[in-house]
Amino acid sequence: MRRSVFRTSAALLMAATLVGCGSSTTTPTTTAQETTKAAEETTQAAEATGAGVSGEFEGTGKGFEGDVTVKITVKDGALESATIVGDKETPNVGGNAIEKMMSEMNEHHTVNIDSVSGATYTSNGVQEAIAAALAAAGMTNKDFPEIEKVAAQTIEKETSLLILGGGGAGLTCGNSALDSGLKDVTILEKMSYTGGATSNAGGIDAGLSKLQEEVGLTGDSAQLIHDDIMASGENHNEDLVWIMANNQGKTLDWLKETENVPFNDRYASDFPEHTVQRFFVCEGGMSNAMEILTNNFTSKGGKLELETKAEEFITDDEGRVVGVVATDADGNTIKYKADAVVVATGGYGANAEMISEKKGDLQYAVFYGVKSSMGDGQKMGEAVGAKMLNMGYAKMYPNGISKGEDTIEGYATPMPTLTTVNTTGAFFVNKDSKRFVNETLAFADIKNATIKQPDEIMYIVMDQTGYDTWSEMVSTNTSAVGNISMEQQEEFFNSDSDHPTFARGTLKEAAEKAGLDPEALSAELKKWNETVESGTDSEFGRTALTKFDEDSTVYIIEQRLRFATTLGGYDVTANFEAQKEDGTVIPGLYAIGEVTAGCNGTEAIPGSMAAWAVTSGYTCGQQLAELLSK
Ligand SMILES: Cc1cc2nc3c(=O)[nH]c(=O)nc-3n(C[C@H](O)[C@H](O)[C@H](O)COP(=O)(O)OP(=O)(O)OC[C@H]3O[C@@H](n4cnc5c(N)ncnc54)[C@H](O)[C@@H]3O)c2cc1C
Repeated sequence: MRRSVFRTSAALLMAATLVGCGSSTTTPTTTAQETTKAAEETTQAAEATGAGVSGEFEGTGKGFEGDVTVKITVKDGALESATIVGDKETPNVGGNAIEKMMSEMNEHHTVNIDSVSGATYTSNGVQEAIAAALAAAGMTNKDFPEIEKVAAQTIEKETSLLILGGGGAGLTCGNSALDSGLKDVTILEKMSYTGGATSNAGGIDAGLSKLQEEVGLTGDSAQLIHDDIMASGENHNEDLVWIMANNQGKTLDWLKETENVPFNDRYASDFPEHTVQRFFVCEGGMSNAMEILTNNFTSKGGKLELETKAEEFITDDEGRVVGVVATDADGNTIKYKADAVVVATGGYGANAEMISEKKGDLQYAVFYGVKSSMGDGQKMGEAVGAKMLNMGYAKMYPNGISKGEDTIEGYATPMPTLTTVNTTGAFFVNKDSKRFVNETLAFADIKNATIKQPDEIMYIVMDQTGYDTWSEMVSTNTSAVGNISMEQQEEFFNSDSDHPTFARGTLKEAAEKAGLDPEALSAELKKWNETVESGTDSEFGRTALTKFDEDSTVYIIEQRLRFATTLGGYDVTANFEAQKEDGTVIPGLYAIGEVTAGCNGTEAIPGSMAAWAVTSGYTCGQQLAELLSK
């Protein structure tokens, strides 16, 4: 017989804490009896193979970035305590998952714990390590109690400002609203951690900030910021562009001075898209900025509900959005009533279905952004008649590689590819086996050239030296989105799939496997070597000229377009109000960050997406605090 314990659901604990607190009210619809029962721990007699086992046992599993170790202390067959160590896991994601799993084990004295949503690799590593520790103890999962979940309930809550999504836009909006005097602000975040895509960004644009002046970048103006944004892509909403131009500097000043986020430096390289350089980086990266903003939000009294997913808007008879229905990790349904709802749920690149519906260039590209970008906010908006703009567009880059046939996910390999064409005889061809571009140009130029090729794909053709350079850099890349291990590369070479295309062999063998015409490729290779001999690439102007070793094994690897950020979403007013097709607003509904469209048009300049997230969040938070405090 297995022992069982009941878990007091997080929602119930939260409910108990919130009752009578400020203007928030919580009404669980379960009976008091059920609540008491849920909180109770029932322990039944053990009939276990491991009864009587005592000692400390350790096991190791593979997490996201490295090993995860679980140590269990067992006394007379019962779990006394557990520790989990995974130093290399991303603190904000895997680190949080480890904390959560460890406290579940210690609270319920069991190894039978759930994985944490959004932290699959770390969770799997912990489960693997638990299994190894159990094996060392000569025990199995059956020797420990199951945590029994209480029946799902419907809970009602109220808040003044309800923000959906705890990424850059949501966290800045929440903090700014609290700083501006609003008392009752709640953020719902569907993952077990905050930060969203923003945690992965390199930095933000902040023209006209004090920092820009401090580091000696002078001559910027709102007009120049506006003009730089407008020069890139189409379909801009100029009202939003002006909000960005007038407020991105103020936003950085606020982040630094009020929120103590350590933005102290500019990005090391210049971007041609910026007339005056204005891209700034945070010490410890944007994930550090997100962590600080999360702590600030909760310590100011903001309510953060993790693992709580917004599902649909609640509207009244006049079509005003008056709240949101959400679900939590325990399966409870929570009905939030709010004076205003702000959607800050980010993009939709991870949603294969939405991508295939939207077509455009997206159908050819691979996604290397975050799993939380599922387009929830856009879908919820469409269900209440909100107008969406620019839905077929994303911020595209070159040098992406598909992860497989049944996924839209991919790797980002820009630097290995650039280094390889700069230092070896590697060159790019399209599906017709033709060179079409100076391979050493800026990424934006390579992307623009790739988009014009059949199926928007190209291939890097390498000799042995070229492949050695490329594969070494790719396999040692420290970024998860850019690392393809040597084992994985071997698997790709040995697979018949063209997702991704990895081909090698004689020129004929490699070309045939890659779906290229061997004769056309052979002619292009000869032409390349003649170009190198002549000393001038008269067709495309490449100056890094190295001969391709014609006796070498030939390697052909695909290079697709890739994106992490979508540009389509809510068409909002200058006050961030969601609009319908007829231009009227949906009262009570606001949107900020990547879930909105128009500030960055159909093509964002560097730093402008994350800047829009925090600038729209900061500005919207101030505006709504004023509106809701009246
Ligand atoms: C790898 C990578 C690199 C990038 N580099 C840069 C860069 O250098 N510069 C730049 O300007 N931009 C960059 N970007 C883009 C930029 O980071 C994003 O566009 C921007 O930060 C989006 O902010 P956001 O707050 O709108 O969305 P996010 O930060 O994605 O936050 C959205 C949050 O909402 C949550 N959520 C989603 N659905 C729900 C739901 N139903 N209920 C509750 N919560 C929900 C998500 O879990 C997430 O936490 C990069 C993006 C990626 C992925």
